[in-house]
Parts: sequence; C-alpha cells; structure tokens
Amino acid sequence: MGCVDSFNRSISYLRVSVTDRCNLRCQYCMPPGGVVSIPHENILRYEEIVRIVRLGTELGITKVRLTGGEPLVRAGIVSLVAMLAAIPGVDDLAMTTNGMLLAEYARELASAGLNRVNVSLDTLRADRFRAITRLGSIQEVERGIAAAREAGLEPVKVNTVLMRGVNDDEVVDFARRTLEEPFHVRFIEEMPVGLGGRMSFLPASEAMARIQAEFGPLEVAHQRKGNGPASYYRIPGAQGTVGFISAVSEHFCHQCNRLRLTADGRLRPCLLSDAEIPLREALRAGISDEALKEMFVSAVIAKPESHHLAEGNAPEGRSMSQIGG
Ligand code: SAM
Repeated sequence: MGCVDSFNRSISYLRVSVTDRCNLRCQYCMPPGGVVSIPHENILRYEEIVRIVRLGTELGITKVRLTGGEPLVRAGIVSLVAMLAAIPGVDDLAMTTNGMLLAEYARELASAGLNRVNVSLDTLRADRFRAITRLGSIQEVERGIAAAREAGLEPVKVNTVLMRGVNDDEVVDFARRTLEEPFHVRFIEEMPVGLGGRMSFLPASEAMARIQAEFGPLEVAHQRKGNGPASYYRIPGAQGTVGFISAVSEHFCHQCNRLRLTADGRLRPCLLSDAEIPLREALRAGISDEALKEMFVSAVIAKPESHHLAEGNAPEGRSMSQIGG
C-alpha cells in the first residue's frame, strides 16, 4: 500500500542525509571554510535512521538513497547500509557520493547490500576539478568509479552540474565518454540553493543541442534502474547514456515521489520549500511507532504542488548539505 499526497502523487522514495559534513568544498555549494557543522548530538543515530526508514516502508517507501554532506565520511556507514538493506520493504538502496572515498569502500558497500551509486563529477579535467571542489583529486574519483563498477554497484551514474563559463565547454567531452564505456552521465541544471557563489546554469535543452550538433540525433534510452526525473538518451551505438535533469528550466514536480530526511532528523516534503517536520525530538522523547508514522504522513500531506524556482523563490542561506541534498 502506498502513501499518496494531496496531488495524487505516490510517495515511495526517501533520501536520507547521513551527515552534513563533506570532504570537499565545491564552489557552488559551500564557502571555502565550509558551513557551521550541526552539533554531534543533534545528528540522527543509525538506529534512529533505521527506525524511520522501517516505518517509512510500512507507508510505501521502497527506494532509499543515502546522501549528505558526503555519506562516506560518516564513521560506520557500511553498517548503516547493512541495517537498511535488511529492511524487507527496501527494494532499492542507493548512494550519492563525491567518489573521493569510493575506491576504499565500494566492495564493502556492495557486500553490505548497497545496490548502486551516483557519483558527482563536474569536470573531466584534473586542474579544473581541483578548482571547483577546492580539495578534491579527480584521480581518486576515477578510481572510485572503476571500483564501483567492479563491485557491481551498477549502473554507476555520474551527476554533472553544468555551469556556463565554468564547465559547459565539456558537455561534448562528457558525451564522448559514453561511446566506449558504460558511462551514464546526467547533466543537472544548477539550482539557486547553497552557500557558495552563484553560477549561471546551462539549460538542459542547450546541452542537448550541443551534443546533437557533434554526434547527430540522440536515441531515447531506457535505463535498467532508476525512476527519477531524468530523461535518458544514447548516441547511436554508444555503451553509456546521457541524461538531462532540468530542475530549473522545466520542473518535474508533478512526478515527484520523494521526501528527504536531514542529518539532524527533519523530514522535508520538498527540497526547495522550508516546510519541515522535526522527528528527532519526538524520537528521543519516546514516540510510539504509530505516532511517528502519523508524523511521516503529515510530511506527505504537506508536500507542495510544485516549487517556485522559476519565479525566483529558493531556500535562503542553506547549503544542500543542510537540507538533505
Ligand atoms: N557529497 C555527495 C555528492 O557530492 O554527491 C552528496 C551530497 S551533494 C549535496 C549531492 C549533489 O547535489 C551533488 O551532485 C552536487 O553537485 C549537487 N548540488 C549541490 N548544490 C547544487 C546546486 N545548487 N544545484 C544543483 N545541484 C547541486
């Protein structure tokens, strides 16, 4: 039985931020010194996350994605994966990571029951990667992608935020990489969220036009897994795919099936609205399963029909790491 919101959308997907900490400082997400960290005691403990997810599955959640901050910097993350994978209603358990620690963890994550990973990678050039992330090493991320494939965490999808004048000149290079390897790139329009500098996003339609100018018409592709907001295409004969997520230019709220749990235990009906249901205090005050499920349902009911980015409304002064990116 699923949970249906006020606009007849079935809510089946929970994104769980396990930490607000990150080992990178991407320019569009954070200031150079990072953001003020949530005090340790306010971060949900693993048993608390597991309880919320278990009750969520009783309400129709089938898909769970771990994110952050950077999920792989939280100690014991593999044990959380194992606990979540053991919940009978979790059919699809995934993670979004910057890939810096993925080579180290890929095999253990797969053994613990993680199904697949998305890796964020905004450039294919080492010097530019360092400039965008301030701290990262592209070699580590490439090692992580290779290790994830080897461990069977597939399909490995690569998330690329396209910014005009920063990395938009690499659209064709990313697409070319899909020709000879199972590289599944998804171009994401930068949203006006975060505490970094504002960039100028490249509309998905423009990215697609540039790829078609180089490679000819793209074919519609069907991913094996994934039911998110991306549209997928393939250069004829290519091993990989190119996807487009046009969060800003053409929102897909009518098909939104997700809730977000922040690292400090707030359930957010929409990334881009500041409505939140605070679960942590209730959990620690000894709330019953039934009452917690009611709070979960109230988040579903509070889901707005759509965000209003196009009209310039966005969460003020919050980084993705604080709102369950
Ligand atoms: N640390 C992990 C990672 O890098 O994948 C997970 C958290 S990170 C906040 C999740 C994704 O959000 C990354 O792909 C990142 O590029 C993206 N992101 C951050 N700020 C964004 C923005 N303003 N617009 C669009 N995507 C953004």
